[in-house]
Amino acid sequence: MKKRILLLAGGQSGEHEVSLMSARSVLGALPRDQFDVTPVVISKQGRWLPPTETQRALESGEAATGGDLVLHRVASAEGYDAVFPLLHGPMGEDGTVQGLLTLAGIPFVGSGVLGSSVSMDKVMTKQVLASAGIAQVEWRLAVRREWQQTPDAVRARAAELGFPLFVKPANLGSSVGISKVGTPDELDGALNLAFGLDRRVILEAMTSHKPREVEVGILGNDAPIASPVGELRFDAEFYDYETKYTEGRAIMHIPALLPPEVAARVQAAALTAFRALDCAGLARVDFFYVEETGELLLNEVNTMPGFTTTSMYPKLFEAAGLSYSELVTRLVGLALEER
Ligand code: ADP
Ligand code: MG
Ligand code: MG
Repeated sequence: MKKRILLLAGGQSGEHEVSLMSARSVLGALPRDQFDVTPVVISKQGRWLPPTETQRALESGEAATGGDLVLHRVASAEGYDAVFPLLHGPMGEDGTVQGLLTLAGIPFVGSGVLGSSVSMDKVMTKQVLASAGIAQVEWRLAVRREWQQTPDAVRARAAELGFPLFVKPANLGSSVGISKVGTPDELDGALNLAFGLDRRVILEAMTSHKPREVEVGILGNDAPIASPVGELRFDAEFYDYETKYTEGRAIMHIPALLPPEVAARVQAAALTAFRALDCAGLARVDFFYVEETGELLLNEVNTMPGFTTTSMYPKLFEAAGLSYSELVTRLVGLALEER
């Protein structure tokens, strides 16, 4: 019997369009002799679109409005064997949708509530990974109320890290709201931008030199495996939104040109992180490699990484001999596995 799969895409975060691009790739790749796939696009307002509107959104690459209340539609998800929540960022990758699906009793691709929510929040991730002995940059947390009531305390915390430093909303992706702050006079603007997008903001020391950015894919549940290591090269101050999504601005190198010992450290640390965060199914774990000092610092864990046929995560596993369609088939299998 064919497995019935519900593919969720779009969603309310700044990565709505990225999700729809990934969904088109996955729809084209799940083998039709094994799967019956129904896509449902979630509008930017968080409502689930009926079939004709979903089709229209997949074609146009965006759904600003429309659709029904989530709780009304989730009941109709009951007939599915599994859900593929191909959603990035808050309200999709952060445990909210995973909680809904858990309550509804439907298996789904990727991490559960705990792994999703902890990995989404850059501060919680750093706390958990520090206790697992993983090297990271120095950081501080600030919350919006402090910034409103005692801004000098927040400025002092930033100064402890030294300049330049990075200011980031704790729960976001695609570099949205992130600033590299070169001098103290740029700090307030960066904090206002980040607090406009999140109640929690992370301040991070910059790596001692401009880092090399290396990434590795993890696949599996309780016996996860690591892909070869990849590297992103680009010509910009840092890997910002424009560099990420402007065609031709960043180049992927797979495998990364690294000493084998460094690549092995990347894979081992990524597997440790995946387990420490209670991830499942898949994750892309991103690192900074400071060539000058040999430091390897874990930057972040993405529990639903970009998933078009040309995205880093599928390309890393393609290099390991797993085609895109074999990869998505494996992910559905992992969702159905007893844990
Ligand atoms: P996102 O989840 O939005 O991708 P990241 O934490 O990965 O956010 O930051 C985006 C980019 O900013 C990184 O890929 C890197 O280029 C740069 N960056 C972020 N933090 C640091 C840091 N502490 N030191 C050096 N570069 C950083
Ligand atoms: Mg991210
Ligand atoms: Mg990143």
